[in-house]
Amino acid sequence: MAKFDLDLFVIGAGSGGVRASRISAGYGARVAIAEDRDVGGTCVIRGCIPKKLLAYAAHFADDFEDAAGYGWTVGPCTFDWPSLVAAKDQEIGRLNGIYKQILAKAGVELIESRATIVDPHTVSVGGRTLTTKYILVATGAHPFCPPIPGESLGITSDEAFHLPKFPQRIVIEGGGYVAVEFAGIFHGLGSHVTIVYRRSPLLRGFDTDVREHLTEQLQRRGVNIKLNCEVNAIEKGAEGSRVARCNTGDSIACDAVMFATGRKPNTSNLGLEEVGVQLGLSGELVVDEYSRSNVESIYGVGDVTGRAQLTPIAIKDGAKVAATLFGSKPSLVDHEYVPTAVFSQPPVATVGFTEEAARTIYPDVQVHRSVFRPLKHTLSGRVERTMMKLVVDGATGRVVGAHMVGADAPEIIQGVAIAVKLGATKAQFDATVGIHPTAAEEFVTMA
Ligand code: NDP
Repeated sequence: MAKFDLDLFVIGAGSGGVRASRISAGYGARVAIAEDRDVGGTCVIRGCIPKKLLAYAAHFADDFEDAAGYGWTVGPCTFDWPSLVAAKDQEIGRLNGIYKQILAKAGVELIESRATIVDPHTVSVGGRTLTTKYILVATGAHPFCPPIPGESLGITSDEAFHLPKFPQRIVIEGGGYVAVEFAGIFHGLGSHVTIVYRRSPLLRGFDTDVREHLTEQLQRRGVNIKLNCEVNAIEKGAEGSRVARCNTGDSIACDAVMFATGRKPNTSNLGLEEVGVQLGLSGELVVDEYSRSNVESIYGVGDVTGRAQLTPIAIKDGAKVAATLFGSKPSLVDHEYVPTAVFSQPPVATVGFTEEAARTIYPDVQVHRSVFRPLKHTLSGRVERTMMKLVVDGATGRVVGAHMVGADAPEIIQGVAIAVKLGATKAQFDATVGIHPTAAEEFVTMA
């Protein structure tokens, strides 16, 4: 008789948990997965996918405007928020169903209930107690809101996807991914948007040229950006409105205040500390390069580990845990040269080192940078500039960073990331023939 009821018990059916359970079951493991919300996790239900759908919706505003330069007369346009929310929810519902099917087809038992860890080999879930050889914690993260007076009057991205009424004026606190992405969404859909960010420029952690360029492009589009400023209280205004009070003394009347102030790992009330699992300073599950915690039978992948909070990372690491535990292929995570994109308007995409980081590692850093008006805007008349940049280790000629702000940046950088990951040199970039006329060709023709 088997020593345990299961080989793997996964807590959290998001991107990482679903991938790990499906691949583990494929190796012949007996797997169950617990989820107390919709199956699909942050990315599918309240993150990447609905966000990208809203970003597409917002982009039509540009398309209608740009069309005039090409001879089109676009009649009066109206936008209906409830229609967009309903269409988006229908698609998310469909994806939720697909995720359930994936689990069922793989032979993974889905338990739609909250699970807690009882001991390193036992979980309690839905009134059952199950023993398991391994536990994988893939519980994700949740939006963090700074504790300020009136905090509960604000919203986060979770609520922004379902606002009953479209906010004509919104204040977004933060200067990271979520802040600039939602600024683009609400601005494109017709809101008057104010970003309030405690530093300058936006997107700390990105290359300085990227940060400055994006901040400027957003300002040119009409997004109001208050830098070196923080919302330190929210009050109720007239007729359901809000007033954001800033530490600079300014007050901003609006219909919603949205916190985009980071995300905290979901590690509370899971029984982790009780069984001796080490948590980090932000409450994240501390794991090694095999995604294993300090308790031998307990692993963690995805946002809960506080590593790069990106869906493809959770998916890859989930598959690696499965390969390590059940596929006889011990697999180390690889978080080097991870490309990432911010779906702002215009979007940002990047892979590798910023110029600043490269200068701390390589004695000789060469930088190639290009700022230009995209061909499309010669006729559309839009005053928008694309910025592209390569960071090169002068000693070897290797391209160690590629950065772009401009239309299609995420689609372009994905391909460039393969070359960067494989260690391509600037000479090899230059030897590649460009595709003309594109913006992407700039990456192989930069002086
Ligand atoms: P980020 O960490 O990207 O940004 C958080 C922002 O909030 C920062 O600008 C930060 O300022 C600010 N902030 C933090 N604490 C406070 C505070 N107490 N008061 C005022 N401002 C504060 O978090 P997001 O929520 O935007 O996104 C979370 C993560 O999710 C991202 O890091 C990313 O990994 C992932 N994500 C990825 C996306 C994608 O791939 N396209 C899209 C959305 C999210 P400071 O810079 O000073 O720290």
